[in-house]
Amino acid sequence: MDSLTSESISEPKTIFLKNYSVPEYLVDTVILDFDLTETKTTVRSELKIRKNPASESNSSNLELNGQNLKLIAITLEAINEPSSLVKTLTESDYLLENESLVISDVPEFFILIITTEINPKENLALEGLYLSSNMFCTQCEAQGFRRISYFPDRPDVMALFTVTIHADKQHYPILLSNGNKTDSGDEGKNRHWVTWQDPFPKPCYLFALVAGNLYCQQDVFTTASGQNVDLYLYVEHENKHKCEHALMCLKQSMTWDEETFGREYDLNNFMIVAVNDFNMGAMENKGLNIFNSSCVLASPETSTDADYYRIQGIIGHEYFHNWSGNRVTCRDWFQLSLKEGFTVFRDQQFSSDMNSAAVQRIDDVNILRNAQFSQDAGPMAHPVRPQEYIEISNFYTVTVYNKGAEVVRMIHTLLGNKGFRKGSDSYFKRHDGQAVTVEDFVNAMESENNIDLSQFMNWYHQAGTPKIEFSESYDAQAKRYTLTLKQFCAATPGQETKKDFHIPIRVGLLNSNGETLSLDLSGEDSCSGEQECVLELKQNEQRFTFDNISEKPVLSLLRGFSAPVKITTQRPRSEMAFLFANDPDDFNRWNAGQELALDIILSLIKEHQAGHDLKLDKEYVNAFRKTLNNSSLDNALKSQALGLPSESYIADQCHIADTDAIHDVRIFIRQQLAKNLEADLLTLYNSFTISGDYQFNAKDMGQRSIRNTCLSYLMELDNADYHKICVEQFKNSNNMTDVIAALSLLVNHDNEYRENCLASFYEQWQHDALVIDKWFAIQATSRLPATLERVKSLMNHSAFTIKNPNKVRALIGRFCLGNIAQFHNSDGSGYQFLAEQVLSLDKLNPQIAARLIQGFSQWRNYNDNRQQMMKQNLDKIISEDGLSKDVYEIVSKTLA
Ligand SMILES: [Zn+2]
Repeated sequence: MDSLTSESISEPKTIFLKNYSVPEYLVDTVILDFDLTETKTTVRSELKIRKNPASESNSSNLELNGQNLKLIAITLEAINEPSSLVKTLTESDYLLENESLVISDVPEFFILIITTEINPKENLALEGLYLSSNMFCTQCEAQGFRRISYFPDRPDVMALFTVTIHADKQHYPILLSNGNKTDSGDEGKNRHWVTWQDPFPKPCYLFALVAGNLYCQQDVFTTASGQNVDLYLYVEHENKHKCEHALMCLKQSMTWDEETFGREYDLNNFMIVAVNDFNMGAMENKGLNIFNSSCVLASPETSTDADYYRIQGIIGHEYFHNWSGNRVTCRDWFQLSLKEGFTVFRDQQFSSDMNSAAVQRIDDVNILRNAQFSQDAGPMAHPVRPQEYIEISNFYTVTVYNKGAEVVRMIHTLLGNKGFRKGSDSYFKRHDGQAVTVEDFVNAMESENNIDLSQFMNWYHQAGTPKIEFSESYDAQAKRYTLTLKQFCAATPGQETKKDFHIPIRVGLLNSNGETLSLDLSGEDSCSGEQECVLELKQNEQRFTFDNISEKPVLSLLRGFSAPVKITTQRPRSEMAFLFANDPDDFNRWNAGQELALDIILSLIKEHQAGHDLKLDKEYVNAFRKTLNNSSLDNALKSQALGLPSESYIADQCHIADTDAIHDVRIFIRQQLAKNLEADLLTLYNSFTISGDYQFNAKDMGQRSIRNTCLSYLMELDNADYHKICVEQFKNSNNMTDVIAALSLLVNHDNEYRENCLASFYEQWQHDALVIDKWFAIQATSRLPATLERVKSLMNHSAFTIKNPNKVRALIGRFCLGNIAQFHNSDGSGYQFLAEQVLSLDKLNPQIAARLIQGFSQWRNYNDNRQQMMKQNLDKIISEDGLSKDVYEIVSKTLA
């Protein structure tokens, strides 16, 4: 028998979906009273509690969650009993442990009043109530409320909240919580108070409180049924010029959700607050969204097109949660994708409708391919609905969010727009005010559309990315084309064998002139006279026959990326080049270019490893030139088409990821393209100079994007003329998109201007934290040697603080997760750096520490030397005493 090590004693507990049971007690109302001071805030909580009639438990013990709380007093008053006296509980009435408070022998109906004390200033985990830049704010999802007060902290306990906040009047003139403001007043000693009431029952993870000295920008929105909703955006006074974009996006979102999903807003006001220190992007608290300032503040001088675009998506996302998440919420945290997958799908559709649909789809797929596919193939692989977790914060993943959105998108593809809308209407109607499961969502879709999605549920149960193989045959005499599809999914941790998935595969056929053929599909999923069909692959192997095809067609497969799968059948380069030039499906045309580039990259990597001289395929240069000079192609899309697959995606496609070779080959191709197409690139760069003020619209964004793509290729030539063009752009542009594009190119290449430009940029923007984050990020991602040394010295810069998650992400995160070649330096310095940062961050903010470990998640995909060094660092982390559950879970699973 093994001796008990300190690790196994403290090994955190795993929570399983199969152990779910309904809450034993329900809370009908919560009356909260906050007396705010920075280091000692008193929270009085009055809960009206009753035994849950649906619970089969005979226990009369009430278990409440609580963490880092100082318990001051508890009183209990039984309701409906003859001796309904208020009883002050003593230590013999309850059991107080590290993370729970169990009160024994409680009646069926009672009022519980608990007073606790907390220290917001010392709360650096940024969960619960904390201080950020002199304001109080909260983050309660998933389990932050238990750091505010003792409570059954689970989403299926929904209560009506009334909240009163007391605070210093001068420092905290603005006091906010969920719902409607019902009362306020002064109370002497320069303090004041405000009461808020939320008319909708909600789980405690949607509770929010904000207190601060804030500027408020107001607007108003009239709903489809004529209700006026007051919109308030609260920011620090210095940011008052950065509000316009977010408010415009909010109004766009409100209109879009009415038109597209029939969802109207339900309170008299909607508030957004920008906060500097925030672990996530934003939080959908009922009526009071709290945003990471980087996801809401924008001005042309300080924000890039990408920022504007992202803000639009996130404002939409949080707003859409008002229905998909708040009105209908999750029964338990295993159902997280019920609200997140659905809401990401909704925000993607919104962004797609507001901007270029093809570019949005490419962005969505890039996230999947660059991050989700590797998660699905690694030690942290988990189904869209996980079966178990140690720390739920670790499951706010690309799988739950982005693959979850793909799963909803596939339902949309199978049902069509109208059918999907019928299903979602029914879901919201049936479950309004309830905490439900993924099955409830899928059942609503099924019953409104008379379709059986039971096999489809495998997408929720099984981890791993399915692989699709295809083969084709053409019978010229019978004019018949046959496509055979096969599916396979590799084992993932805890799931050795997989059942077949139900996979919608959108296809089209082209003739040799690149024209679309009309389809005549025989059999079950018949589709005739259409330009494209959705094939439903349900079996391990399935054959689809198309009649009246007069010549051997070229297959356009998985249009719009209709399922999150990998196509593993290798196609001849000539076919990929043909599709890159001709596919009428924008997504597939881009994708063919990516596959062609990937194929070339992978074979050049082999050449490079064998020590051969590299040569770039002439056909590829020609295909690239055609795209570059294709004036009918939308600029944003063209810019995407001219990009090569990312280093991390290429690494995933290699059996052993040789990050040095990947980096060298990718740069070699870029240099060759620049050499061969220099004149074309320069012409295009010069033809899209925009005059006039910055505007956030598709046309201008597309022009900036193509222009900066051309400049990035030209800079590969290491020619002093282009360095100068870059400096000119850096100095003379009126918008951050062009300034930062130029500066990051200067920082990426050896030239005489880089240090001066970096210094002048800092000089100009030192007062703006969000702009300085960009300054950190471009230095952390520089491909020049000694970047790690630079990162280390920047950690001592006065503008850096490890307590601010945005700074950690910009500097440490971008280096470890975004600078593949340097992070994986064969001397192991990057690995050692990451381990050190994880350990020091874990003591302050475990959520942020745990996310950085991703840098090690693929450690088995590298050569022995790198594997060993990564493992040593993982071992070093896990042997540390007092590790958080967050870090423990990720490291132990990564090592398993
Ligand atoms: Zn969300």
